[in-house]
Amino acid sequence: MRPHCPDFEQDLVLLVGGELEPDQVARVEEHVRSCEACAKLRARLERSQALLATAPIPRISNDEMKLMALRARASGGFQLRRRFLAAAAVILALLVPTVTYFTFQPTESGPRGCDTIATPFDVEEVP
Ligand SMILES: [Zn+2]
Repeated sequence: MRPHCPDFEQDLVLLVGGELEPDQVARVEEHVRSCEACAKLRARLERSQALLATAPIPRISNDEMKLMALRARASGGFQLRRRFLAAAAVILALLVPTVTYFTFQPTESGPRGCDTIATPFDVEEVP
């Protein structure tokens, strides 16, 4: 006996959950009749489903509801802070180059001291 049939595991889950089409049900049922491993897996899945169906649903107290609301609000505040920091970073990234451009804008005559630099044309005067 093989430990399990990987090709049929998901089909068995869907079969027990009532999620298969009739033709798929017939195909899986036929396999289960000839495969002991799948028959055992189906039995386990059916037992688990029966247990889940009868398990009580835990009630949430008012204190637990308040605690969950506080946690949700706290995590929302954290995200708001992150958005504010991201917006501030974008504004700074735009503001710094703009201020730098207007503060150190070159004059029309070029940078200061340009007249005193000797060029090859200053050395030899063309008549
Ligand atoms: Zn099988």
